[in-house]
Amino acid sequence: MDLEKIQFHIKEIIKALGEDPDREGLRETPERFARMCAENFAGIELSNEQIAKIYGKTFTQETFDDIVTVKDIEVFSFCEHHLALMYDMKVTVSYIPNGKILGLSKIARIAETAAKRLQVQERLGNDIAEIITLASGSPDVAVFISAKHSCMTSRGIKNTPALTITSTLRGRFKTEPDLLKRLEVKPYEIG
Ligand SMILES: [Zn+2]
Repeated sequence: MDLEKIQFHIKEIIKALGEDPDREGLRETPERFARMCAENFAGIELSNEQIAKIYGKTFTQETFDDIVTVKDIEVFSFCEHHLALMYDMKVTVSYIPNGKILGLSKIARIAETAAKRLQVQERLGNDIAEIITLASGSPDVAVFISAKHSCMTSRGIKNTPALTITSTLRGRFKTEPDLLKRLEVKPYEIG
């Protein structure tokens, strides 16, 4: 990530807005903004394969068709269409272990890291599902996400209560809809 370039251009945007980039409150804003980018967009520089490697520690565990669900992982992300915050975002991940189980906190870290990219909610679900599959070796993954999009709530249609819910179903969750009945959480209950 080119932080100096970000600083330069944010200063230009402040000028283009008609503001004075040298007044006290704005003087260090480009630098602060660049630091924020380094943190909030840390997932851009990592591929799904790399994220799977970093957080993919598994433990050998015989399981019997059990479903593991980690519910309501709180993350935030930015929509790529408006560079606007997606907030009140909750991610629920279910998978059927295939002889290996993932550390539960690692599942949360995977969701967080995939969210630190310019995203659309639909692709975030897909990214998380793909990383869980790469890390766990299980093709049977479901990811449910609910979020508010500030590009909807603060501008445009200003429909503040609107919640966007996506369900990403892979492997047996797709081919055996009855499996969803076994989940502790149903997509419509999320959020
Ligand atoms: Zn948007």
